[in-house]
Amino acid sequence: MTVLLAVLLAFETHLAPDGQIQRWSFAGDGLVTLRLIDPPAGLRLKPGGDLRAALTMAAQAWQAVESAHVPVRYLGTVHARDPLAGEVLVRFETGSEFPGGRDAAGSTKLFVSGHSITAALVHLNAADFDWATDGSTTALDVQSLVEHEMGHALGLAHPCGDLDTQTPSCATLPSATLQALQQDVMYPSIAPGPRRTPSQDDRDGITFLLPAASPPEIAPELTGLTPPCLEEAQEIGPGLARSLIVEVGRAPDPAVLELLSADTLVAQASLGRDDKGRLLAAVPATALHSIRPLDARLVAQSGKANVLFAALDVAKSCTRHGCSSTSPSVLALLSLALLALRNSKSAPRRRGGRGGFFSKKIFSPRSPRLRGALVALTFITALPAQAYKRSVNAGGVCVWWSTRGHPFQIDSQGTPDVPAAQAFTAIRKSFQTWADVSCSDLAFPDQGLSMDPKDRVVGYFPGQYNRNLVLFRT
Ligand SMILES: [Zn+2]
Repeated sequence: MTVLLAVLLAFETHLAPDGQIQRWSFAGDGLVTLRLIDPPAGLRLKPGGDLRAALTMAAQAWQAVESAHVPVRYLGTVHARDPLAGEVLVRFETGSEFPGGRDAAGSTKLFVSGHSITAALVHLNAADFDWATDGSTTALDVQSLVEHEMGHALGLAHPCGDLDTQTPSCATLPSATLQALQQDVMYPSIAPGPRRTPSQDDRDGITFLLPAASPPEIAPELTGLTPPCLEEAQEIGPGLARSLIVEVGRAPDPAVLELLSADTLVAQASLGRDDKGRLLAAVPATALHSIRPLDARLVAQSGKANVLFAALDVAKSCTRHGCSSTSPSVLALLSLALLALRNSKSAPRRRGGRGGFFSKKIFSPRSPRLRGALVALTFITALPAQAYKRSVNAGGVCVWWSTRGHPFQIDSQGTPDVPAAQAFTAIRKSFQTWADVSCSDLAFPDQGLSMDPKDRVVGYFPGQYNRNLVLFRT
């Protein structure tokens, strides 16, 4: 299926009446700000679709052209209205309001002043088409269409088939030329599925319209913040600010780090470098007041910016991002822990006295279960680090510890298979291995040996004193 991207107003206003080129004017704050009008209930978006990510990526695709000056911001959703100066609004139409016709997927109205495009309103046809953001080839790709319509807003017309620009009909072009132009984001028709990468022709066009003052104008590449939990960051003056390491790919001219909640700015962090050349951000303590993870936006001197969603946890009990590691020792513990967990389900449960929970069975070298663990270890270490699986309950919901700090005791009886001191040392090292994971706040205070034989029980006993106990099945 191929559908037209009829953008009558876009290509009609591509040239001013005097024949001069029209281009984005950077009215307002000198940026291209992109907002989404609240999506209608009737929008048929493939499940799991992420409009916010799609629009952000669409804007950043144009920004990534280093020979051009296109600093972008995606600033969230708004109620239906006309665009402000410097703004591109995207609106899904499910009714008869779509101005482009039943075969068209997108249509952009430009707001112009002389030779300057000051704002744009992008209409997307949600009455006649299904939409997706995951690259599906059975629905129109939101990012690809928004990219195309943003191209119109910036001043680009179709490379062929526009009457007002006197370009030839696409159908009359030599096949080689046609095939080349069909790679353009600005080609006038699109099939379902993604076409997200601006071609060299697109790049030449945007560079001609909006050249960078001193190319290359590199968009920042923000890859992470360390630590990912603000409470864990080092304080700079008690109660004033905290210091984070800003992990970047390319960011030669960083200016400021912005922290956002629901696309609204909640804090700005000044930047500096430490003696190792690492980029540091001083985050005001006011950012701690947020109750949910913050997005981070690294802004360059040029105005180009890069957003990383949910980059920083701030709530009192930071949820973990999960630390990937290629360390075989960590993976080995993971496989052993999971195996022990499975075995503990069949462990006899006895009531009475002080109960133990989180009991880990340590198997003797003769145990066939240890051989099973080694097989599992071999398998798991052969996989990439992201192959980890979360533990789930009977309903398939992920389970996790709701608190931090897990003290443990070791049953003093030990095992007849290994000298006691050797066994206890090995157990303590096991906990320490997890505690040493650098991007985690895991801690396992050692409460010493459990001396009372009555405490050798497995289970969780509500209302009673429960402990984490390591004991051997002897
Ligand atoms: Zn178009």
